[in-house]
Amino acid sequence: MNIEYKEVDHRIWEEELSWWVPNKIFDAHTHIFRPQDCLLKPDDPDNPRPKYLDEWGVIDVDVTRQWNEALLPGREVHYVLLPGVWRATDWDSCVEFMAQSVASENDPLSVAAMPIHPSMTPEWVDEKLRQYRLAGMKPYRTMTDDPVDCRITDMVPEPLLEVADDWGLIITMHMAKQRALADPENWQDIQRLSAKYPHIRWILAHCARCFAPWAIRDSIEHIADLPNVWIDISAVCASAVFDILLEKFPTERIMYGSDGLAGWDRGKYFWWGYTWDFMPGKEGGTPHASSEPTFVLYEELRSLGHTLRVYDWDQELIQSIFWGNAMRLLHGSSDA
Ligand SMILES: [Zn+2]
Repeated sequence: MNIEYKEVDHRIWEEELSWWVPNKIFDAHTHIFRPQDCLLKPDDPDNPRPKYLDEWGVIDVDVTRQWNEALLPGREVHYVLLPGVWRATDWDSCVEFMAQSVASENDPLSVAAMPIHPSMTPEWVDEKLRQYRLAGMKPYRTMTDDPVDCRITDMVPEPLLEVADDWGLIITMHMAKQRALADPENWQDIQRLSAKYPHIRWILAHCARCFAPWAIRDSIEHIADLPNVWIDISAVCASAVFDILLEKFPTERIMYGSDGLAGWDRGKYFWWGYTWDFMPGKEGGTPHASSEPTFVLYEELRSLGHTLRVYDWDQELIQSIFWGNAMRLLHGSSDA
């Protein structure tokens, strides 16, 4: 794996990040996959095979470690490993790959989630959980018939939630809907499902999919008091979101995540109006200042740092977001 690390990256790491990013890190949201497990066809007009698969090749734990060694030098990193999320997947092969990735790692702290398609039977999912050491489920909106407006139970139907509850799994949930968490159907579903299935630990990805302050401002209070709901901050690059999150959501249930490989792209997630999107950095577009883009992960960390500055770089807070909260969630204790 040839990782291009440029002068601009080095400068940002040294000046803005290296002095506060802690030595031990639990990355609660990173993806691993094998392109051969994706069964989508390039010429499928509705669901074309994503181009990144053949550009990146296999992303396994080893590749993930190389990226983390390059971007977070000297840090010890453990993971919640999430699968690739494609509508058409060789499910047996994908689940086996996820299970092998934690079994072969000699890393008792990292855990893996299995992909969830709404058509899976509870018996099949239960059988996989008996067969392998898997800690979680990873449903995704593109597996449903309405990737924009689907509800949580369209992605992971209640019979599968019963299985997750029986096993006490984590579920990494990237919610759908244009208003994200601010859509009452989303926060009401979280309220209802977290009460009905008390042994499921929900991890709401990307600040409960709030990439913009308008999405989180008046909605986060609806889920802040639910004891089995956590949040990962992966890919969010907006200090305004982190300001609200740290003020209104219990900081012992907020976790760092990189969203590798999306986090290793160059560019940034921007919000404007009532939307957000990934913007690849465009070099040469700004003659008034250097236009070289850096990694999404660095933009996420810079934005978080901007908020942490207001907390006087509170070491206890930083340690809990980057390590202790994930350890308590996954292993019941922040030691190790
Ligand atoms: Zn992700």
